[in-house]
Amino acid sequence: MAKVLVLPDHIASQIAAGEVVERPASVVKELVENSLDAGASEIEVAISADCRDIRVADNGHGMDAEDAVLAFQRHATSKLRSADDLWALSTLGFRGEALPSVASISRFTCYTRTHDAATGTKITSADGELKASETGCAPGTVMEVMELFYNTPARLKFMKKANTEFGHIQEIMQSLAIAYPHVAFTLINDGEVVMRTSGHATLDATIVQAGFFSGREPLVEVFVDESSQGFKIHGFMAKPTHFRGDRKGILTIVNKRAVRCPLTLKALDYAYSDLIPRGRYPLAVVKIELDPGQVDVNIHPTKKELKYSNGNSLYLSIQRALTKSLRQEAIAHANARVAEQAAEQAQIQAQMLAEHAAAQHEMAQQVTLQVAEQVAQQVAQHASQQAAMRFEPPKQRDFESIALVPERHEPRSNNSYPEANQINFRESLSYRVTEQDQHIAPYKRDISEIPNSLRVADDLPTAGEHFLAETAESYELPAGWRMMGYLKNTYIFFETHDGLEIIEQHIAHERTLYERLLALQNSETAGLLSESVQQLVVSAPLNLTTDQNDVLKNSEAALTRLGFAFSFDDQGQASVTQLPLQLAQINYVPVIQKMIEDVATADATNMELEATKSIACQSAIKNGMPLSQRDILKLVSDWLNTERRDTCPHGRPVRLKYSMPELFELFHPA
Ligand code: ADP
Ligand code: MG
Repeated sequence: MAKVLVLPDHIASQIAAGEVVERPASVVKELVENSLDAGASEIEVAISADCRDIRVADNGHGMDAEDAVLAFQRHATSKLRSADDLWALSTLGFRGEALPSVASISRFTCYTRTHDAATGTKITSADGELKASETGCAPGTVMEVMELFYNTPARLKFMKKANTEFGHIQEIMQSLAIAYPHVAFTLINDGEVVMRTSGHATLDATIVQAGFFSGREPLVEVFVDESSQGFKIHGFMAKPTHFRGDRKGILTIVNKRAVRCPLTLKALDYAYSDLIPRGRYPLAVVKIELDPGQVDVNIHPTKKELKYSNGNSLYLSIQRALTKSLRQEAIAHANARVAEQAAEQAQIQAQMLAEHAAAQHEMAQQVTLQVAEQVAQQVAQHASQQAAMRFEPPKQRDFESIALVPERHEPRSNNSYPEANQINFRESLSYRVTEQDQHIAPYKRDISEIPNSLRVADDLPTAGEHFLAETAESYELPAGWRMMGYLKNTYIFFETHDGLEIIEQHIAHERTLYERLLALQNSETAGLLSESVQQLVVSAPLNLTTDQNDVLKNSEAALTRLGFAFSFDDQGQASVTQLPLQLAQINYVPVIQKMIEDVATADATNMELEATKSIACQSAIKNGMPLSQRDILKLVSDWLNTERRDTCPHGRPVRLKYSMPELFELFHPA
C-alpha cells in the first residue's frame, strides 16, 4: 500500500487552478476583481492575439513587499479574518486561491507599490519558484500572466479559437464595467483598444460605452429603492421595438456580480409577454442590490447561479418593478403622441385661418393683416387649449363630450369625412346594428371592377385611409359589452360587465393587421404565402435614393419572405413586382418607401418584424377618420381576437380600462 503524503503546495495549486481557471477569461475575471477589491478607479486589461498573455494594471492601493509575497501563498487573503465575515462580505474575492492558482499554470510577474512607499516590489513566479525584488514602478499593481497553461498541456488543448476566448473575455469585461460605472475600464486586444468606459458616466451611457447596447435602442429606466426592505433595483430596458432572438441582450447583476438569475429572466418574460412576439427576448440590464444576508455568497467562483433565501417575494418585487416601468413608459408615450398630433392639428388650423384671413384682407381691404394674425393666434391658442384639455387624466374628463354614433345612411364622398358624431344620442342609449349601414371601405366599390394587377398605384387610396373589412362581415363582442360612444372619430367607449373601456381605433387596427401579417408569414412555411400576394403586371418604380436602394438590397431576403418581389434596372434602380395582398388596394409606393426607411435601423434578425410593423402601422385606419358603427364593431371584434391585444406592436396601449371600483375611487378620492 502506498504511503500517505501531503502534496507539495504548487501541485495543490495546480489542482485548484483546474477549478478556478477554466479559460483565459477566468484569469481576467480573477485579476480584475482583485483590482476592484483594491479600490482601483482605473483598470486596463491587455490581451495578446492568442489570449495566453494577459496583463492587468490598476491604480488601486497596491501591496507592500511582505504582503506581495504572502499573496501568492495558498489561502492567503486580506479580505476574510473569521468565519463570521463570510456573511457580511463586500469584496469580490475571499478565498485566497486566485493568485497562487494562476501563478502555478503560467509565468507570472507582479509589480506592486503602495501609494506612500518610495519603491515597489517585483515578484516573479515560474515552475513553482517565487522570487521577490525591489523595483521602481507606479503606485498600484500590474499583474502579468505569460504563456497561460504552458505546463498543463491538457488544459491548453481545451482552449478554443482565440476569437472565442476573446469573446468570453469581452463579455466578462462588459459586465464588470456595467457593474462598476465609476471605474474606468480599458480592454486592449493585440494592441487595439476594443472597449473603454469613462468611469464617470451614467449607467445607461456606461452600458453603451461597454458595447452591451448599441446606443440606438430607446430605453426605459427601472429604479426602485426599498433599501429599508434590503432591496434596490436599477436598470435599463430597451423599449419593445428592440429585441433579439436569444437572451444575450440580458444582463443581471446582483450585488455587483454578473449572475445567471432565473428570477429576473422570468420577470422579464412576464413584463414583455404582450409586447414582443413569442420566441423573442428583450434587451435589459438589471442591477439588483440585496442585503448580503439574503443571498448565499459562498458559491464557487466559477458558478454563476445564485441562491436566495427569499426567492418568491424577491421575484414579485422584481416583476412589479419591471412591469410598472414599462407600462408607465407606454402610457407616457401614448400621451405624448396624442399631444403631438393635437399640436400639429392646432398649427394647421391656425395656418388655414391665417391664410383665409389674409385672403379676405386682400379682397376687402378692410381687415388689416395684424388683425388676421391676431385672429389666427387666438384661434391657435384656443385650439391648443382645447388640445391640452383633451389630455387631462380621465378623472377630469367631461363626459358630456362623449357622443354616441349616429347611424348614417348617406353614402360618403371619397375625400371629405363628414362631421359624423356631433349629435348626442342620450335619449336612445341602446345600440343597434343595422344592415343599411353600407359604408364599408368607401373605395372598395369604385375599384373592385378593375383587376388588381392592372391598377396603377397612384389611383389608389392612401394607406390608412380606408378600413379593409376584407373578411366575412361577422363580429362578436364579449357578453356584457355595449358601445356607448365615439369621441372625435378616435376613441371608442364601451360599457363592459365590470366598468368602462376606451379603445383607440388606430392602435387597435394596427395590432390586428400586425398579427394577421405575422400569421401570413408563418403560413409561408406551409406554402400558403402565394395565395396572399399580388403580382403586378406592370412593375412600379420606387424612386429610391442610393442609400435606400442599399437598404433594400440588404433586406431583400427578409422582404421576400413577406411576399414582396423587386427587380433592379441597369442603373440599379428598384421596382416592385409583387406585394402582399394587404397593400395591393392602396397607394403602395410611399408605404414601401417608408418601410425601407424603418427597416434601415433594424439589425438583420429584426428586419422582417420591423417591416411588418411598418406595414401594419401604415395601413391601419388613422385616428380622426370616421367609421360607421358596423366598421367599429368589426374593428373591435377583430382586435379582441388578437393574441396580444393590450398594446400595439410598438408597445403603446390600445385600451384604457376603468373598473367600477376604480371609477368610484376617482370620484371619491381617499
Ligand atoms: P482573494 O482575492 O480571494 O483574497 P487572491 O489570491 O485573489 O485572493 O488575492 C490574494 C490577496 O492578494 C488579496 O487578498 C489581496 O490582499 C492581494 N491582492 C491581489 N491582487 C491585488 C491588487 N491588484 N491590488 C492589491 N492587492 C492585491
Ligand atoms: Mg481574488
